[in-house]
Amino acid sequence: MILNFIDGQYREGRGGRSFDDINPVDGSLIDKVSEAGREDVDDAVRAARQALQGPWGSLKLAQRCDLLYALAAEIDRRAEDFLAAEVADTGKPRALASHLDIPRGAANFRVFADVVRNVPTESFAGHAPDGQPALNYASRRPKGVVAVVCPWNLPLLLMTWKVGPALACGNTVVVKPSEETPATAALLGEVMNAVGIPQGVYNVVHGFGPDSAGEYLTTHPDIDAVTFTGETRTGAAIMRAAAEGIKPVSMELGGKNAAVVFEDADLDVTIAGLTRSVFENSGQVCLGTERVYVQRPVFDAVVQRLAAAAARLKPGRPDDPDANFGPLVSTEHQAKVLGYYALARDEGASVVHGGGVPKVAPALAGGAWIEPTVWTGLPHGSRVASEEIFGPCCCVIPFDRESEALRMANDTRYGLAASVYTQDIDRAHRFAGALKVGVVWVNTWFLRDLRTAFGGSGASGIGREGGVHSLEFYTELSNVCIKF
Ligand code: NAD
Repeated sequence: MILNFIDGQYREGRGGRSFDDINPVDGSLIDKVSEAGREDVDDAVRAARQALQGPWGSLKLAQRCDLLYALAAEIDRRAEDFLAAEVADTGKPRALASHLDIPRGAANFRVFADVVRNVPTESFAGHAPDGQPALNYASRRPKGVVAVVCPWNLPLLLMTWKVGPALACGNTVVVKPSEETPATAALLGEVMNAVGIPQGVYNVVHGFGPDSAGEYLTTHPDIDAVTFTGETRTGAAIMRAAAEGIKPVSMELGGKNAAVVFEDADLDVTIAGLTRSVFENSGQVCLGTERVYVQRPVFDAVVQRLAAAAARLKPGRPDDPDANFGPLVSTEHQAKVLGYYALARDEGASVVHGGGVPKVAPALAGGAWIEPTVWTGLPHGSRVASEEIFGPCCCVIPFDRESEALRMANDTRYGLAASVYTQDIDRAHRFAGALKVGVVWVNTWFLRDLRTAFGGSGASGIGREGGVHSLEFYTELSNVCIKF
């Protein structure tokens, strides 16, 4: 049984309810998960409050940072355990999780310990009306008890992306991992205890959203802030709950990200970038590309080479050395993505590659397998070209002029990420600056420096996290003015 982690102890939910954790590779049961009820969430929030007022709150900055470095080292030491848990929950290739998810899980603690040690606060020297000197300086204190609500696509990575800076800034947390992927958040409790993080600093409650742990946590009167990563619709529900108590929220939400390929692009670089941004993690990356706009002279070449790259993806078990493509996270999500595959045909798409469920070994037949898919012929305004699918698929749409590409790329309610492929440096700067998104990559994709601002505009979110920007959310800034 995967248990809740409350006040430093692994516990079953008091209501005795549980749900299944299913392996999306073959539909087998990994384990039961103990569901937290309202009382368990109350306990977790209370434990977090006590830790804040007690041992955690009284640590010096250097001591706190040393504990975070120890946490990162312990995650590295137990990388195989985290890898096994993450791969079982998500079905993603081991090769991907071992170079992306787990190392980033550790890095998120190291980087934010470095940030809080090194980032200064502002000060202004001035004068009072009577001519006496005055000094203003800013001081930061933790926000308090932070609710962290997480998605399933990069479970450890995205959870620690919040927990790392939250703890570095001196907060305590209650985490609600996705019901699809509860294992690594639970396992992190062992690491917390092993390195001596005081009990109550890190708590995990398992369950669903409405009428379950997600709602109980985000509507709890004694939390001080909510940081959320997930679907835009869920973000809206959480914002409504947070509005009741005037709780600050950080929202990292959905996207319908564009890639724009100009005729002067290096096509080897472009195809390598697009292959990752469309298909990596089976398309279940918030930053992933689902719309590809290609300048007409290279349109056919890009379509043909991207389809060829899709054809080289081989579905199989995460540890199969010949496989490099995992299933979707669940058969429910598979049904949603297949719904869009059917809709694409209705909307007039030509299926250049994929479009259905691949043939897999009989032992994998119960898994959430899906074909990587490339469409052409879809109008820019079609639903498939406008709505977030969160699968390994993209529509490729031609353009003639730069202004036309910019108009189409920006014509979305989302604004998370975009990538641009060109060798013209002037165009790269001009185009990147005009895109209405939080993150732009030129001639690459998902190259992250954790010191940089990350987040979306429009329906993709509110706020920026990363580096010093995380401090804005996870601390309360006070200005002190002294006259002397
Ligand atoms: P989701 O919104 O369905 O669920 C996210 C979490 O919210 C889960 O833990 C879920 O249990 C919880 N939840 C659901 N309803 C709730 C409610 N009413 N109150 C409180 N909690 C509730 O998202 P998902 O399907 O797990 O993840 C995929 C989505 O996440 C995609 O839209 C993707 O774009 C987005 N995402 C965004 C980013 C980003 O950085 N912008 C990163 C990763 C994923």
